Amino acid sequence: MSLVTLDSLLQKAKKEKYAVGAFNATDLNTARGIIAAAEETNSPVILQFAEVHEEFVPLDTIAPIYLDLAQKAKVPVCVHLDHGENFETIIKAIHLGFTSVMVDASTKPIAENTQMTREIVKIAKALNVSVESELGRMNKEDGTNTLDYNDMADTYTDPHEAKQFTAATNISALAVAFGTVHGLYAKKPNLNFERLKEIRDNTTVPLVMHGGSGLSDEEYRQAILNGVTKINYYSTMSFDVTNGIRDFLNNKKDAYLYDLDLQTIDLVKKNLIAKIKVFGSENQA
Ligand SMILES: [Zn+2]
Repeated sequence: MSLVTLDSLLQKAKKEKYAVGAFNATDLNTARGIIAAAEETNSPVILQFAEVHEEFVPLDTIAPIYLDLAQKAKVPVCVHLDHGENFETIIKAIHLGFTSVMVDASTKPIAENTQMTREIVKIAKALNVSVESELGRMNKEDGTNTLDYNDMADTYTDPHEAKQFTAATNISALAVAFGTVHGLYAKKPNLNFERLKEIRDNTTVPLVMHGGSGLSDEEYRQAILNGVTKINYYSTMSFDVTNGIRDFLNNKKDAYLYDLDLQTIDLVKKNLIAKIKVFGSENQA
């Protein structure tokens, strides 16, 4: 049985200075590709489901599948709820057997964020479930190309608030904003590693980088060097795998649905193996 908590994965990663990839899936085949990539590299992995993806598949339908894959995997797997905004969804994920949940109240005032996070931590800890929470505000690319990467400093995580917040909430991991954005970058990313370093120096918890799509290998390494131990990576993988499937279909006119299943698993696996190697978690299972 290799279903583990986020806490156990990230404590080891923090100590040994690498990051564990956290990859989203909305279906069985993507999840199988994620596990296959981790097994082939002998790496721990975080298989996560975002609350907003309930639009594509209900949490209660997909949860037993993820948990079954995790339990049978040859490497440690944490099954994590990504961006839980509703109390009900978070409790449901814990009840279904997730070993980690993210509470995202980052758009609310810090007092409210602290209160909601504390409430979740109290319940989760009693059930040996880890909690990630977010401070600062992640920006999102929406395809309009209007987001100014040089004018986002007011949304960055404040290092002193991070210190107070982590002490008051007792969370397992803190998601921080220092210039990464959700979605595919429309232009060259502008990451403030100085800010990340300050947050690290003011806190003791493992730090999480959201918006990990489309960064250079050097940017990933810099982030890890400055305290990041969990990297959320999804958009680029999702986009590249879809393009790969399009190429496959253009070249194979007699394809059946099961051909797509196998292609998805294989393309996801290959895409993630490359990332796992950069994140440094290879052979850390
Ligand atoms: Zn995120």
